[in-house]
Amino acid sequence: MNGNGIERVGRIQLRQFDFEKSVDYYTNIIGLDITGRDENRVYLKAWDEWDHHSVILEKSDSAGMDHIAFKVTNNDALERLEHRIEQFGCTVHRVSNRTRIGEGEAIRFIIPTGHTFELYNEIEYVGVPTGRLNPHPWPDGLRGISPHRLDHALLSGDDVKTTTRFFTEALGFVQTEKVISIDGEELIASFLSTSMTGHDVAFIKGPDAKLHHVGFYLDNWYEVLKASDILSRNEVEIEVTPTRHGITRGETIYFYDPSGNRNEVYTGGYAVYSDFPTITWTEDKIGTGIFYHRRQLNETFSSVFS
Ligand code: CA
Ligand code: FE
Repeated sequence: MNGNGIERVGRIQLRQFDFEKSVDYYTNIIGLDITGRDENRVYLKAWDEWDHHSVILEKSDSAGMDHIAFKVTNNDALERLEHRIEQFGCTVHRVSNRTRIGEGEAIRFIIPTGHTFELYNEIEYVGVPTGRLNPHPWPDGLRGISPHRLDHALLSGDDVKTTTRFFTEALGFVQTEKVISIDGEELIASFLSTSMTGHDVAFIKGPDAKLHHVGFYLDNWYEVLKASDILSRNEVEIEVTPTRHGITRGETIYFYDPSGNRNEVYTGGYAVYSDFPTITWTEDKIGTGIFYHRRQLNETFSSVFS
């Protein structure tokens, strides 16, 4: 939180056409815990998260992201932000209490790239398995990759410039990194932080309203390697084996859920304060920026969205 009243990515709702297989994948291979179910949705959280859920899987006939939501500090911040979003020119709708399990009221709006976002403060507190009194560092009985938390999403769209202006000017995010065309005219990618981490949401030029990937946070480089082992053992398609990003400096792997939504687990990176000076990458170095060792994009990275 950098003083703008927005704490972090709180949840993402992902559409799944292979619903049962996806529920099995997110619980046993990713290792999230189920905290609720309703007719078309399963609610999950990572072990280190204390709110009711961070991932909602939704039965659908296609893959993709229904919406992504950020948790704000309190209801005053929510009201203030609602006003700023409207001033920017986005229409805001109220999502009423208990529209989904465990959730209070939220506000919902569509950003210039066509993605649906929500901001909320109220959500049921469920706590963590290690407790809050003299806790052990991690709980017994972890399954699969068992990341600490949902961390960020990379989304695609045409108007990365206006979207960046929306996040920095209306919502008070910090732009940590950007990729620009060589002539400096075009904004190709933009990395935006509202927390102390390198990015909480990022945008890359591409088809509107699409998801590139959702990222979960692990402790360290060895955990990233081990996550890759777990995926191979379970014959999950791995798109990118352990490597480092130039952008954000994170250590990473990419892979796909059973419906074709790209996932990432990652670790590392730097601390972000509100005076963080934006890092610039030029388009000719985007390969190094995304994959620091190979120094080139692979074919699927720039063509597969869900
Ligand atoms: Ca983050
Ligand atoms: Fe990422």
